Amino acid sequence: MDLVIVLRYRKAVTYGLHVLLGALEEHDTPTRYDVRFATTPEATAEEIEAALARAPRVLVLWSFYSPDAEALAAELATIRSKVDSPRVRHVAGGVHATAEPVQTLDAGWDVAAVGEGETTLLALVDAGGDPTGVPGLVYRDATGAVVKTGRPARLPLDTFRGFSLRWQRFNALEITRGCLYSCRFCQTPFMFSARFRHRSVHNVRWHVDQMRAKGLRDVRFITPTALSYGTDGEEPNLAAVEELLATCKEGIGPAGRVFFGSFPSEIRPEHVSREALRLVRKYCANTNIIVGAQSGSDRILDAAKRGHGVEEVKRAARLGIAEGFTINVDMIFGMPGEDPSDVEASLSLARELADLGARIHAHTFMPLPGTPWRDAPPGEVDPATISAVDRLSQRGSLYGHWRKQQDHASRLATAARQYPRPGRSRTLPILADPPGDL
Ligand code: SF4
Repeated sequence: MDLVIVLRYRKAVTYGLHVLLGALEEHDTPTRYDVRFATTPEATAEEIEAALARAPRVLVLWSFYSPDAEALAAELATIRSKVDSPRVRHVAGGVHATAEPVQTLDAGWDVAAVGEGETTLLALVDAGGDPTGVPGLVYRDATGAVVKTGRPARLPLDTFRGFSLRWQRFNALEITRGCLYSCRFCQTPFMFSARFRHRSVHNVRWHVDQMRAKGLRDVRFITPTALSYGTDGEEPNLAAVEELLATCKEGIGPAGRVFFGSFPSEIRPEHVSREALRLVRKYCANTNIIVGAQSGSDRILDAAKRGHGVEEVKRAARLGIAEGFTINVDMIFGMPGEDPSDVEASLSLARELADLGARIHAHTFMPLPGTPWRDAPPGEVDPATISAVDRLSQRGSLYGHWRKQQDHASRLATAARQYPRPGRSRTLPILADPPGDL
């Protein structure tokens, strides 16, 4: 055995790890390796200890989102206090490590994997776990200097499997990566590029056939904007969507179910049309649709570069409800540059949608690394707004982790101040056009 790969396997991020396993299982390598799954910090320490007795090198793979970075750094320190060795390398991947690689190294990881992880992991395995010169990594050399090996290639989505057959790890299937809508609060375009890459219908069908053969019944999709499937631009391509849904429905069989436009994907409001909703009804099992609204203020939607207005949100909700769907609407409170009239506009939209029968999925604005609003002030929800939001929540019209996200937002803002971006002014006016987005 040359190498043991220990996955710090957390429920919140299984998908990213499954995709890596899907790439690994088809890869020919001279390296003899084993993969272990560790679902707790204790299990991770035990797996590392066992791996050190079996192989000269151990890679521990972590993946996390920015709000979890601080808690996982504490977890990493605990694991290191139990077992550590120069033969063990803790590798952090995902959007936080990509956006803040030096912060990630300073927080205790040995290596930050930057960008899409598939080709990087394969090269790392080929190198027996030695990161030297492997593209897509940031690490410190023997002198402590930061080494950056550049972003790895962004390949067509069909290049790698979307889940793992060898390790029997399945998940919602990623049908689109990247997003051409560069909303200023969102990490997706930064992480995966501001254009769409779609998995082909043929390739999706292969995955669905594998799922059915394994006895799985539910097909769900991961996509930044569900009705953008098959298009390069802003207009939906409903023919491509229908081809996708029809083949998935056929592939998963009469006992199977297809979900589209519900968790974990959502639909942009201006894409909601009677035709699109009828396609969902014809082929899919979901009776709910998630629509991204984010704000009830056109001024804030413009500042966020959302590319749609408030009217489109209302129209989408009315249409969805008229077609018999439950409508969930994503909204973000505490957006940068909001004044009291913007806050009132958002509350008023939330109430209006709730009166129509929609449910509000509430978030607090978080200044996420990698986004144009990384250095914006953390979202704060004032007491009057909290009361109004609580009233909606008591009616059963609002849900979400918006309270917890206020704490995450403050912590992210503190970290951003400690790691200022070179050449960026932290006093950038939020509603003006910042230079050099993404
Ligand atoms: S919020 Fe949605 S539409 Fe906007 S950039 Fe992110 S993924 Fe794309």
